[in-house]
Amino acid sequence: MSENYVFYQGELVKEDDVKISVRSKAFNYGLGVFEGIRAYWDDKNEQLYAFKLKDHYERLKQSAKTVNLDFDLSVEDLCKGTVELLKKNNCRQTTYLRPIVYNDSQDIGPTLDNADVKVVIYTQPLNKYAGKSELSVGVTSWRRLSDNQLPPRTKATAAYLNSALAALETKRAGFDEAIFLTDANHVCEGSGENIFLFKKGKLVTPSTSDNILEGITRELVIKLAQEELGLEVVERSVSRTELYAADEVFFSGTAMEVTPVVEVDHRTVGTGHEGEVCKKIKELFFGLTLGQNPKYVEDCTPVYDK
Ligand code: PMP
Repeated sequence: MSENYVFYQGELVKEDDVKISVRSKAFNYGLGVFEGIRAYWDDKNEQLYAFKLKDHYERLKQSAKTVNLDFDLSVEDLCKGTVELLKKNNCRQTTYLRPIVYNDSQDIGPTLDNADVKVVIYTQPLNKYAGKSELSVGVTSWRRLSDNQLPPRTKATAAYLNSALAALETKRAGFDEAIFLTDANHVCEGSGENIFLFKKGKLVTPSTSDNILEGITRELVIKLAQEELGLEVVERSVSRTELYAADEVFFSGTAMEVTPVVEVDHRTVGTGHEGEVCKKIKELFFGLTLGQNPKYVEDCTPVYDK
């Protein structure tokens, strides 16, 4: 029995009252799109800040449109519903939000036309996602699917079988996380995060045409590096061994936040510890998630009335 509420079809309802049929196409074929959002708890001011809500819901609407699972709720409805949900569940710690748009039609066959589209959002306490503060990663033998297979800029539930296979393989090989290559053997991303490398004074990250999810944290890291650190940022195709030769490698993502990678395929990256650039970006990142930085205050939606 859960005391939690969820946002379901535009209303706040008890989580236990929402049922999903074994016949649902979402369950049978993975026909859905989703988001992962964080809300950061400010202990000092007893306030919760939902982070980059608008960006996440714009991406959710775009994902839904791409796979023909359009729904009526607007970005504003979703932002408002999220704040109400966090309040209703009295979330008073850093919380993860999981909005899912799914095809709940129940006849046989993987179809996306005339879908019975449902929208649900649930909350989950989440402090750190990575079990460690410095990660070792391995390049997986599984390839990231391409735009004409399972569009990676769409955050589709079905795509996470690809992620899970990669994570399974690399965890069994003793690594903390996986790195995907594309079919063209370019570095792509982690199982649920984007990747950056720093070399010769430049920050480099795989370009959006290399089958990455266009990460919201990635976009913020690029902005922080350019505007706050004055760094040159290059979006281009990256080769596997560039990771071995980099001075620094780090991940970015909503769950992963900004986390250094200190080993790739059993090669030490840089000094083998978090580098200066990653450290500075991390400080800038955590220095704005609680609305402390006036330039980024609009990214943080306060939940509780003060
Ligand atoms: N790539 C993949 C495959 C992901 O699942 C995520 C997490 N949403 C990311 C990158 C990072 O995206 P964001 O910064 O928007 O969370």
